[in-house]
Amino acid sequence: MSPETSIKASAPTRDPLRHVKPAVRALRAYTLTPRPAQVKIDQNENPYELPQALKRHVLDAALTRPWGRYPDFDPHELIEALARHSGWRADGILAGNGSNEMIEALMLVTVGAGTRVVIPEPTFTLYALMTNLLGGEAVRVGLGPELEYDVDTLLSARREASAALTIVCTPNNPTGGVLPMDAIERLCLDGDGLVVIDEAYHEFAGVSAVPLLARHANLIVLRTFSKAIGMAGLRLGYLLASPDLVREVNKGRLPYNVNFFTQSAALAALREPAVLQAGVTRLVRLRDALYAQLQALPGLRVYPSRANFLLIELAEREPKVVFEALYRRGILVRDVTSYPRLSRCLRVSVGTEQENESLLAALSETLA
Ligand code: PMP
Repeated sequence: MSPETSIKASAPTRDPLRHVKPAVRALRAYTLTPRPAQVKIDQNENPYELPQALKRHVLDAALTRPWGRYPDFDPHELIEALARHSGWRADGILAGNGSNEMIEALMLVTVGAGTRVVIPEPTFTLYALMTNLLGGEAVRVGLGPELEYDVDTLLSARREASAALTIVCTPNNPTGGVLPMDAIERLCLDGDGLVVIDEAYHEFAGVSAVPLLARHANLIVLRTFSKAIGMAGLRLGYLLASPDLVREVNKGRLPYNVNFFTQSAALAALREPAVLQAGVTRLVRLRDALYAQLQALPGLRVYPSRANFLLIELAEREPKVVFEALYRRGILVRDVTSYPRLSRCLRVSVGTEQENESLLAALSETLA
């Protein structure tokens, strides 16, 4: 058969997309429409840059390093620094291209067809997306009436589903609430299902589940340099767990996943703990001030948050209309109306003092 005949013969049934897994075809991609804005408070980023001298040092080091050579196969120096920073053993740490990549590696090695994953709702959407992508079953557990975590519902869902994984972002994105340490410990003690604690915002809450790692072999903690450390653009996240688990998750990690520039910048940032702590203290102070000022505005409710963002619920005004009104005033916030239970909500990141003032002025104007 000539190539022409073969193409013709199969032409009526040609559909390259049929080779994509049905579970994937049914999914909606994780998307974010980029919009330029003067005040960009939509992604929980750190509005303050790392010191210029630190950046200069990293740039200078990059100039002396051959760019044609791969980065370290295992970034030992970075892992050792992360061990000192977190207080957990180096052989129990894995670094990746953002915590997103660590979430992916973890789920690649644990979730297959029918694997049950307990995921609170609403929360960071990547977890349910990855679960579905891999053919697993996301068991959604609603938050309490005040959008707070309820450990008893999580526990019973975990038991009932015999869940392989229970995911808890604490502080939670986009609500800002935390799951207390004793509750995390209760989850860990309940069977051998893995308990994944996503600590993307832990610095702002001042608590961490890392001390529990020594006692619980089924606990996994995820962290990132994208929020408190202000390195979202360079992509670095890390996973902490028992060395046995880390060895397995490592099989799902791509080789050379952390480039040398990011490694060098992370090392430089970790050498300045006082700078990092001062940045966190400043943002926490700004968050608490913004919370109080938002609370004083009529027509909205603001949820208490332990992270670097606040969830605002609008009593009467349409959130999408308020979103656009703010955008016209140069302020980009996050529209979270498509999240379950949040159809009246917008999420705002804590910005600089000036940015917060602009937000408050624009909001009071819009709501007046
Ligand atoms: N976890 C949570 C809870 C988040 O909110 C985010 C960022 N939005 C991430 C993980 C991913 O962060 P990154 O990949 O930048 O480390």
